[in-house]
Amino acid sequence: MRLPRLRFKFMDDGSEVRGAKPGGKPGAAVSLLPANFADARRAMVEEQIRRRHINDENVLAAMAQVPRHEFVPAEFRGRAYEDAPLPIGEGQTISQPYIVAAMTAALRLGGREKVLEIGAGCGYQGAILGCLANQVYTVECRSELAAEASERLARLGCANVHVHCGDGTLGLAELAPFDAILVAAAAPSVPGPLIEQLSAGGRMIVPVGDAENQELQLVERTDRALRTTILEPCRFVPLIGAHGWKDFPFR
Ligand code: SAH
Repeated sequence: MRLPRLRFKFMDDGSEVRGAKPGGKPGAAVSLLPANFADARRAMVEEQIRRRHINDENVLAAMAQVPRHEFVPAEFRGRAYEDAPLPIGEGQTISQPYIVAAMTAALRLGGREKVLEIGAGCGYQGAILGCLANQVYTVECRSELAAEASERLARLGCANVHVHCGDGTLGLAELAPFDAILVAAAAPSVPGPLIEQLSAGGRMIVPVGDAENQELQLVERTDRALRTTILEPCRFVPLIGAHGWKDFPFR
C-alpha cells in the first residue's frame, strides 16, 4: 500500500462552523454539522466517499486535508462539506466531494505526474490534485474565477498548482504532454487537442454527454491505442470553447 504523501499542511482545524445564513432559520441545517471543519471533513470522507467505495488512501487523505470551506463563497461556508455541488459565482459550481474523489482516484496518481485540469473554477479540484501529483496546470476560461482561484491557491500554499486563463479545450500545448488530464466540465465529445496532449501511458477523465445525461469517461493511452472506459453517470456545467459547446445549450 502506498503511504499518504501530502505536500501541504492546512491550518484550519480549530475553526468553528459558523451559524446559519443571515435571514435563514436559526440553527437550521448548520446545526447538523459537527463542531469544526476538520470533523466535518472527516465525516465527509467516511460517509460520502469511502462508503461509496473510493478506497485509495492517498485520495481519502487529500480530501480529509484540503479545506473545502476556503474554496466556497462565504455564504456557503457552513455547507462546504455537504454531499452536493455548490455555487461558486458566474453560474458555475464546485463539484460534489464524491465526484472530485472519484475522478481523482480514476487518474491513479503516484506523485510524479504532470497533470492538466480543465475548468479550475474555485481551485478546489486543483488543490486535491496538487496533493497527489508533482505539478498541476489548471485552465479556467472565466477571468474572474481564474484570478480568484490563483490568489486562493497561493494563499493556501498550493505552490505546485498553476492557474492559466484561456480556452482549456485547446489544452496547454507548450507544457504537453501530460501524464493525467481531468476535465471538470461537460464536453460534447472528448476534445481532440487533449487527446493529443496525453502522454503514452497517460489517463484522462472527462464527463461526456448532453445537458441532461453525461457519463464519466476514462481515456487511457497505451503506446499504440486509446482505450475508453465508461465509469458512471454525472452532471456538470458545460465545457465551452473551440472543442466544447459553442451555443451554451445548458442555459
Ligand atoms: N474544478 C472546479 C469546478 C469546475 S466547474 C472546482 O474545483 O471548483 C467547471 C469550470 O469549467 C467552470 O469554472 C467554467 O468556467 C470552466 N470552463 C468551462 N469551459 C471551459 C474551457 N473551455 N476552458 C476552461 N475552463 C472552462
